[in-house]
Amino acid sequence: MHTIVVPDAQQKMQLLGRLAGLECDGQPTPSAGRTQVKRDFLAGAVVQVQRPDGPMTVLRTLQTSACERNCYYCPFRAGRTSTVRVSFSPDELAREFDRMQRAGVVQGLFLSSGSVGGGHNAMDPMLATVELIRRRYEYGGYIHLKIMPGAERAQVEQALCLADRVSINLEGANAQRLAFLAPRKDFEGELLPAMHWVREIAGAHSPLAKRPSMTTQFVVGPAGESDRELLTTVNRLYQEVGLSRAYYSRFNPVPDTPLADAAPEPALREHRLYQADWLLRFYGFALDDLPFDHDGRLPAEVDPKLAWAHRHLAGQPVELNRASRRELLRVPGIGPRSAEAILRARRQGRLRDLADLRVLGAVASRAAPFVLLDGCRPPRQLGFWD
Ligand code: SF4
Repeated sequence: MHTIVVPDAQQKMQLLGRLAGLECDGQPTPSAGRTQVKRDFLAGAVVQVQRPDGPMTVLRTLQTSACERNCYYCPFRAGRTSTVRVSFSPDELAREFDRMQRAGVVQGLFLSSGSVGGGHNAMDPMLATVELIRRRYEYGGYIHLKIMPGAERAQVEQALCLADRVSINLEGANAQRLAFLAPRKDFEGELLPAMHWVREIAGAHSPLAKRPSMTTQFVVGPAGESDRELLTTVNRLYQEVGLSRAYYSRFNPVPDTPLADAAPEPALREHRLYQADWLLRFYGFALDDLPFDHDGRLPAEVDPKLAWAHRHLAGQPVELNRASRRELLRVPGIGPRSAEAILRARRQGRLRDLADLRVLGAVASRAAPFVLLDGCRPPRQLGFWD
């Protein structure tokens, strides 16, 4: 006779936290609990995220690991027998989060879920959990809530009232790429419309007290998409729906899934995508400025800003004593802060040599081949030129 063991809330937390760590790409994220004991016990459930005011320790968990969908990259896909299926009731999860938050183990929550009974049915317990955390436990801190594919507009609205950040994961660069990765997800019919709802609800005339941010995530690699395809979609989303940021999650195969034998994607590709994304968001680059090759790939061997500078600035260096902010931001080694510092310093006097640039926070050795100082190339000074 078998003994059926029903896990208690802490055992579920341990299990679902570890599974949530696999959700993106099969790679658990390092845990960051306050104490070694808690970190070991909650491996995967307690993670550190970067917030504008510094790092924050967050409980990352799932409402349930049960799922009826069959996304090819995902450890929770329906029919994967090795995945343990466990669910939290809203009461249970809200209480457990409150306990951990009051004990100082976590400072925030990231709640995701598998999907059973359609996206709207999957959203209900997630919303109920967060509602309890806000109302019963009077928690006013950071909550990141995933919007499930197929959620209804009213649920998106409720999520925006409760959360600081929502995520709608597109996974594929477009409908065709998503169909390869997750044939039961609908790019045009359910994911993009939900993003537009967020834009409309959280828009300029929103009754919401605060504007939650929206993020998305892509599984990079197995669908064969190019960097241009990914960045075209992301660039459009930054402009059209106010996306705050995109996460590029390089593919790592998960055993016992249809993509188990596909090759993992190199970490360098993920890194280059993030660099190009920063150029779009913070450096004034347009999509067509990015140095894609004929196949729409970013160069692997050099970062995209340096590749652009080699093509465009090597023969036409930027005059540091006259350049606009936009022109300064095109120079390798000069970022938004150092560009501002250069503009401020120029009001006091002229920049004379590369040492001035370094004092102002720029990486002078990177900038040197692409700049002029009062019409002259900077002299090759030791330590400033590569
Ligand atoms: S909907 Fe797809 S990605 Fe989400 S948990 Fe289910 S199988 Fe995984």
